[in-house]
Amino acid sequence: MTDFGDLYMEVILDHNKNPRNKGEIENHTNHADGHNPLCGDKISLDLIIENEIVKEIKFTGAGCAISTASSSILTEYIIGKRTDEIRHLFEEFHDLVTTESKNLGKLAVFEGVKKYPARVKCATLAWHTLIAAIDGKEKVSTE
Ligand code: ZN
Repeated sequence: MTDFGDLYMEVILDHNKNPRNKGEIENHTNHADGHNPLCGDKISLDLIIENEIVKEIKFTGAGCAISTASSSILTEYIIGKRTDEIRHLFEEFHDLVTTESKNLGKLAVFEGVKKYPARVKCATLAWHTLIAAIDGKEKVSTE
């Protein structure tokens, strides 16, 4: 995956090696399990949402470097954000990894995914799972 650029690749590998916000939240208000059968990535998200704002989020699961890094960066990025803002961000993120470049701060490290269409679902799994959790769905698959 040399087209990712060295710096971006470094960030992805760092998050894969040392994932942030890994674990479970016992008193979570929202939860969902996500599965990407194409690659075998599985993640579970626990959230505490109060007044439509994400107060806390943690993830568990196993997958490839891109899905793990995407989950880790997502948890850092969306904390403190409103759920409607998050739905909009998911659309923007989807555009970033499929068609056009956007100014999405630290999410920009996934821009290179667009050159690897097979990995788009690895990068978006955490987002699909997040939206499912917000919508009160317990399970989601990228297929
Ligand atoms: Zn994957």
